[in-house]
Amino acid sequence: MGIPAASQRVLLGEGGSHRPTLFPSAHHRCLGSRRALPYSADRGKKSVNRQTLDDLKQQIPLMGYLQAHDWQPARPLSRGRWMGLCPLHQDRKPSFLVDSNKDLFFCYGCGRGGDVIRFAELYHQVKFSQALTLLRQWRGAGPLLQEVARFYRMQLHRHNEAIAYLYERGIRSLELVEHMRIGYAPGGCLRGWLSQLGHSSSTLRQAGLLTGMGYDAYVHRIVFPLEDNLYGRSLSPAAPPHRFLPGSKGGLYGWEYARSYPEVILVEGLFDYAVLWQAGFQNVTCSLGTHLNAHQFQQLCDGLRNVYVAFDADPNGSGQQAALGLSRRLRERGIPVWQVCLPDGHDPNSFFVEGGDARQFQSLLEAAHP
Ligand SMILES: [Zn+2]
Repeated sequence: MGIPAASQRVLLGEGGSHRPTLFPSAHHRCLGSRRALPYSADRGKKSVNRQTLDDLKQQIPLMGYLQAHDWQPARPLSRGRWMGLCPLHQDRKPSFLVDSNKDLFFCYGCGRGGDVIRFAELYHQVKFSQALTLLRQWRGAGPLLQEVARFYRMQLHRHNEAIAYLYERGIRSLELVEHMRIGYAPGGCLRGWLSQLGHSSSTLRQAGLLTGMGYDAYVHRIVFPLEDNLYGRSLSPAAPPHRFLPGSKGGLYGWEYARSYPEVILVEGLFDYAVLWQAGFQNVTCSLGTHLNAHQFQQLCDGLRNVYVAFDADPNGSGQQAALGLSRRLRERGIPVWQVCLPDGHDPNSFFVEGGDARQFQSLLEAAHP
């Protein structure tokens, strides 16, 4: 293997002609009617007001939600319709159709279709009412988190202690800082900024950005925006090193870039991700801890690719144990897995910080064992 030079994504240039005409009218047989609700719920027992559902759907355009969950259109059709790989089944050529005007999708592979609520049900594998809750949370947190990330990015270059810490952890390139949208939470200033923008303290408290006492929850932390969360690494050894907002840590970090490679390197921390990406390994992804949630595991299984697990070589063996357990589960799903053995006591970050280079890491990849 080598450092992958180019994307291996399969793009379909042809194949459209044999497909039936799509969306000939508002009522497509596959998409269901806009009058009926194509959800899993027994509608007779549901008391959710139709207007409430329409409002929610209005506020969360399907295309935006899909893209926020790593979906990428592979090719355009006419009138705001797109084809891409189906995020709901193991898709090898684009069979997932999205109509961005009608906010509806349909998959010619697995035969499923509907609106953003139906998509959330299928994608997160939850019932109707839980899908509504997830969408409401997403609607509430999405724009707010973007504001927060933007604010923390502005702070980064104003605080020497943050720049010094990044340097110490091997983060040297501005390109990487931009790529990961790295910011700094000094503490004591987020609340004021966000209230100026009209966010109430109760919203911020609910999102986990303020403590119960009303102080900034992230203090002296390097922050990395995640899909629907915010990771903060403490500069101070006295504070707990890792902090997330309440809720899921989301999918694999950087998966939208890594997934197109035939070989991906899986690491457990964002600082591991950072040094590898900086060294030219753009096929790297990160699980934010050694335990993968169901969504992350599913992402790794969503195509045939070699997975190189490069977890920490912990003195107590916990990283290695986690890597072995994960490898076994991946192998059961038919995914080829390789264990990358780092020198004792090292993680990919310390390997590079202490002088390792891309060529040496490449040798570790080549020496990886099943
Ligand atoms: Zn499908």
